[in-house]
Amino acid sequence: MKAEIMAVGTELLLGDILNTNAQFLAQELANLGIEVYYQTVVGDNPKRLKDTIFHAFDRADLIITTGGLGPTEDDLTKETAAEYFGEKLVLDERALGRIKKYFDRTGRTMTQNNVKQAMVPENNCTVLYNDNGTAPGIIMEKNGKMIVMLPGPPKETIPMFRNQVKPYLVKKQEFTFVSRILRVAGVGESAMEDRVKDIIDAQTNPTIAPYAKDGEAILRITAKAKDEAEANELIDPVAELLKERLGNAVYAEGETDMETVVAEMLLERKLTVAVAESCTGGMIASRLVEYPGISAALLEGCVTYSNDAKMHRLGVKAETLEKYTAVSEETAREMAEGIAKTSGADIGIATTGIAGPDGGSEEKPVGLVYIGLSYKGKTEVQEHHFVGKRDKIRERATYTALDWLRRAMLDEE
Ligand code: AMP
Ligand code: MG
Repeated sequence: MKAEIMAVGTELLLGDILNTNAQFLAQELANLGIEVYYQTVVGDNPKRLKDTIFHAFDRADLIITTGGLGPTEDDLTKETAAEYFGEKLVLDERALGRIKKYFDRTGRTMTQNNVKQAMVPENNCTVLYNDNGTAPGIIMEKNGKMIVMLPGPPKETIPMFRNQVKPYLVKKQEFTFVSRILRVAGVGESAMEDRVKDIIDAQTNPTIAPYAKDGEAILRITAKAKDEAEANELIDPVAELLKERLGNAVYAEGETDMETVVAEMLLERKLTVAVAESCTGGMIASRLVEYPGISAALLEGCVTYSNDAKMHRLGVKAETLEKYTAVSEETAREMAEGIAKTSGADIGIATTGIAGPDGGSEEKPVGLVYIGLSYKGKTEVQEHHFVGKRDKIRERATYTALDWLRRAMLDEE
C-alpha cells in the first residue's frame, strides 16, 4: 500500500502553523509498515484541493488528509473526496447528535454551519466519530483507493488516528511491523554505524536503521512478521548482538532519556549525588530534578559561576584558580571534590568550561569543557571539546556529564 499524507489549510502554507500532523502520521504509518511516497500541503482553495487529491490518487492507494473538515465554506476536503469517488453527501443523524451534545457540553451555541460537518458520503464510507471536537473523520474506500480524512487540530487528529484509523489499517495489512529503538550515548552516529555495519548489512528481517536525533545516536530495529510476538522473536537476538557489540554505549531501549536512566540507576543503587556547575549553569541538576522521586538521590546543586563562589562554596584553592584558571582540569577536580565533601554525597559532579560565543582563546577555545567526577572519594576529570552555539555546548556538556555518571555506576559493578 502506497500512501500520501496531505495537509489541508492555508495557514500551513503561510507558515502560521507547523505541520506537526504530517510528522505524527509519517511516524505512525512507518510503524505500520505503510510506505509514504509523498507529503503534500495544499491551501483551502477548491480548485487546487481538487487537483491535489485527484493527482495524488494517480500515485497513491491511500491518502490521509488532515484539516479542511471544519464548518466554514472553505472547508472542502470531504466534498472534494466525495466528488472523486462519485458519491453524494447525506446527513448523518448520529454525527449531528454528537455535534449537538458537544456544543451543550462546552456551553456554546451551535450554528447552521455545524450541520455541514454532519454531512457524510452516502456509500463506501466509514464515519469516525470525534470524541474531542465537532468534525467527524471519514474513511472512503472504492476500487482499491482509500482516503482517510481527519480533522486538523492535533488533539483531535491524534486520538482519532490511534483509536480508529490504526486498527482499521492494521486489519488491511497482511503483516505487522514492530520497531525497537536502542539509544546510544557517547558515540556519534557515523562511528556507531561503523561499529555495527557488518550486522546492519547482514540483516534483512529485522532491518536496522541508524539515525541521529536530538544529539543522540539511535538504532531502530524493525521486524516484519505475522504478529507482534513473532516480530519480537526476530528482534530479540539482533538487539542482543548490537548491545554486545556496543557495550555500555547502549544506555536504554525504547522511549526514555538519559536523565531518567541515570536517576533510576542512582535510586536503585541508593547513591547520593551533588552537582557544582559553572558553564552548565544548573542544567545537570535541572535534568535530574525532572525525575519525580529524585530527592532521595540528589542532595544539592550549586551554580558556582564566579571564582569567589568556587572558593567559598566548594573550597577551590585561590592558587589553583590563579595558576590554572577557572576553566582547567585542576579547578574541575577541586570543584567535584568540594561539592562531594561539603554536601556529604557519594558522588560529586562538576563542570567548568567556555560556552561562548566570547571568552575563547587559542589555548582554551569556545567549547572546551572540563567535567569532574568524584565517585566515592576517587576523582577524575575529562576534557571535552564540544561544537555548536552556546546552548548546544551547554546541553552537550550536561548530557556527557550524566552519561559519564551512568558509566561510572556500571563500571563499579
Ligand atoms: P481545520 O480542521 O482545517 O479547520 O484546522 C483547524 C486547526 O487545526 C488549524 O487552525 C490548526 O491550528 C490545526 N491544524 C490544522 N492542520 C494542521 C497540521 N497539519 N498540523 C498541525 N496543526 C494543524
Ligand atoms: Mg482549515
